[in-house]
Amino acid sequence: MLGLMQDWPLRVHRLIDHAARHHGGRAVVSRSVEGPIHRTDFSGLRRRSLALAQRLVREGVRPGDRVATLAWNTWRHIEAWYGITGAGAVYHTLNPRLFPDQIAWILNHAESRLMFLDLSFIALAEGISEKLPHVTRYVVLTDAAHMPETKLPGAVDYESWLAEADGDFAWAPGEENAAAGLCYTSGTTGEPKGVLYSHRSNVLHALAVAAPDMMGLSAMDRVMPVVPMFHANGWCLPFVAPLTGAGLVLPGPKLDGPSLHALMEAEGVTFTAAVPTVWLGLLQHMEATGAELTTLKRVVIGGSACPRALTSAFEQRGVHVVHAWGMTETSPIGTICGVKPEVAGRDAEGVLDLQETQGFPPFTVDMRIVGDDGVEKPWDGSTFGNLQVRGPTVTRGYFRTGDALTEDGWFETGDVATIDPAGYMHITDRTKDVIKSGGEWISSIALENLAMGHPDVAEAAVVAARHPKWDERPLLVVVAKPGRAVTREGMVAHLAPHVAKWWLPDDVVVVDEIPHTATGKILKTKLREQFAGYFGV
Ligand code: ADP
Repeated sequence: MLGLMQDWPLRVHRLIDHAARHHGGRAVVSRSVEGPIHRTDFSGLRRRSLALAQRLVREGVRPGDRVATLAWNTWRHIEAWYGITGAGAVYHTLNPRLFPDQIAWILNHAESRLMFLDLSFIALAEGISEKLPHVTRYVVLTDAAHMPETKLPGAVDYESWLAEADGDFAWAPGEENAAAGLCYTSGTTGEPKGVLYSHRSNVLHALAVAAPDMMGLSAMDRVMPVVPMFHANGWCLPFVAPLTGAGLVLPGPKLDGPSLHALMEAEGVTFTAAVPTVWLGLLQHMEATGAELTTLKRVVIGGSACPRALTSAFEQRGVHVVHAWGMTETSPIGTICGVKPEVAGRDAEGVLDLQETQGFPPFTVDMRIVGDDGVEKPWDGSTFGNLQVRGPTVTRGYFRTGDALTEDGWFETGDVATIDPAGYMHITDRTKDVIKSGGEWISSIALENLAMGHPDVAEAAVVAARHPKWDERPLLVVVAKPGRAVTREGMVAHLAPHVAKWWLPDDVVVVDEIPHTATGKILKTKLREQFAGYFGV
């Protein structure tokens, strides 16, 4: 017997419909690529998204077609997401920090037909457009007054192009399991792989991560997604904010510490999210100028492990750090470090210990740790295992390459983790970054976190170098803060009280800069190549 409730496919447009109807006047503020601050609200966003969907259909875009975006976080990019999905097509975000050839490869693999791009990326697109037979139209996210000369085929300015539609349009009907978005993983190992979100997975993910122990957003919040929409589905914030009625503040192209600080203060931002490196920039600015954060209450930090020193610096300024783990493949939130009764009532240091873990999953994710034999490991807080996840917001395969699950239906994350008896998951490493010394494992993340706590260290990475006796030994690579000196003896003395003796790095190398990936993480592959032979083997 079926239930008698209404059938309401979970389509992405429901989110903006809800926001426009019930939170219509809520501000959506952007720093535009042209420079000035732009203001609209959820009603305005919906109106223009409808026009965009109508205009795309007139352009010949059909349900299931991929439409690319190469853009910063602004109101126009959000309109594009709702307009593209509202026409039944699939938004396909591109990371401009990838190599141009990688971007071309991804576009050709996706066969995206039309591209929305910011003024900042015209030269980039011009450099690869001859290799992109599928893209027949380039819509530059600006108005006629700011539109430059360009040789991109079919180039038009967004505002003139959009003005050709009146918005008298009904969202394209479709199934909730239809594709809505496409995002490629950065491909640090092999070719990039396309993760294809559905309308249903995006809506379920937004519902699940809005919960109080997760992001806990409300209509009283003003959310600044600093994490770019091209990084792992923008951590879903362009969906969670409309779902909860929280206002949006979009930083556009300016992601440096001073610009972020100024915008947060001017617009009363209460909640923000990004990878650790972005926040190091903000905190350095605040340390140098004595600036404070008067409205910010919570910051979600993820994408790579959040160093304890970073958490503590925010907490001391009255900002609560919410550590999160996820992947492009998990929509992306896999776990968030909320507070359960089992761990409540700790002192400040105890809370910092907890915040080093990545927390527990939302309703839409199940997790386990297993050995290489596939047998589940205990949740005792110390046994390592390969982390696997499953659920309706977790991918089951990649675009055009078929299923990617274990025989019993779990997704292999490539991360190594422990889980404690209260269910808190702690990432110790990516499988390929863990240091195997004499048959035992050393966590590079644990050492990096400790090294980051040294007052003279700006950034730290620990990599495995080949060793004649132990196979691999840890090597600590650090960047010193401006005007400070770091020594091997000083670093070892700093780490020694906190780790077993055999975990201590065999040497410390001071460098001017540590390489980063396109999503702002430490590029371990490059460091490993550079230092693999450091001990002369
Ligand atoms: P990319 O590598 O392209 O940036 P993802 O953002 O999907 O792609 O990367 C996901 C990986 O990032 C995870 O498998 C994990 O190794 C790492 N990661 C994400 N969040 C955390 C975290 N809070 N702590 C440690 N590692 C993390």
